[in-house]
Amino acid sequence: MRKEAVYNLHPCFGARNNRGRMHLPVCPGCNIFCRFCERSINKDENRPGVAAKVITPQAACDYVERALVFCPDITVVGIAGPGDTLATDNAIETFKLVGKKFPNLLKCMSTNGLLLKEKLPDLLAVGIDTLTVTVNAIDPYIEAQLNDGIIYHGKKIMGAEGAEILIHNQLAGIEAAAAAGITIKINTVLVNEINRFHIKDVAKAVAKCGAIIYNIIPLIPQHKLKDFSAPNCADIESVRHEAGKYIDVFRHCQHCRADAVGIPGKNNFSRQVYLGEMQQR
Ligand code: SF4
Ligand code: SF4
Repeated sequence: MRKEAVYNLHPCFGARNNRGRMHLPVCPGCNIFCRFCERSINKDENRPGVAAKVITPQAACDYVERALVFCPDITVVGIAGPGDTLATDNAIETFKLVGKKFPNLLKCMSTNGLLLKEKLPDLLAVGIDTLTVTVNAIDPYIEAQLNDGIIYHGKKIMGAEGAEILIHNQLAGIEAAAAAGITIKINTVLVNEINRFHIKDVAKAVAKCGAIIYNIIPLIPQHKLKDFSAPNCADIESVRHEAGKYIDVFRHCQHCRADAVGIPGKNNFSRQVYLGEMQQR
């Protein structure tokens, strides 16, 4: 897919004309242990990591069909959890099935990047157009304060040792995916007490690897970081300014649920599509 088409069709990569996206919640599990992550199945909370339910890859096409009835403006089908998209083969299987039936929809995926490089051939085979990789630090000692460890090829590796593997794999994966023509956005969770003054280094490193858009997500204090501060607008703005010296900064992220359906910031049909409710909230 040519980059201009992505900019015209994807609401999170620059499209402005009421373009919609739907998230298919097919990936419940994860292979790393972020200290701020609280995944949940519920229909009320409006944040990443939450979905009304988990669906199977085989059921995905039916949900896409249903979503297009409620929101014909959908141009992108994405997978953003509620866990990691590469921890299992569910996402790749889903894109295979959805891609066959809806070839005109862009395919978008978010991942922590641990397995990005080794799964890249599969992602290219199913025709992924856009990718979001969450990179919270490029220094293992900072990353280890945000993430307790990883499960890598069946082995649990904790602390800075796991963080080093994660960071290495993230940067290598971004570089390889960008070189293969995938449009890449980076998410970084801003935690004032941990990575506030490190984010410019992350922005510089990911831009060098070929990412083109950078999205700073303020911490929602929860789980093991529940006593940390929630960054305010001034915190976010000053970090955006620093990152913006190296890479374009995305400012309109709505921090969507893993089952979001509709135009970001304008409407959400998750409940109608996934739970069969009739009224929009
Ligand atoms: Fe949670 Fe995502 Fe971190 Fe996995 S990568 S622990 S789903 S925030
Ligand atoms: Fe777009 Fe942000 Fe929502 Fe992802 S979470 S679909 S980047 S608005």
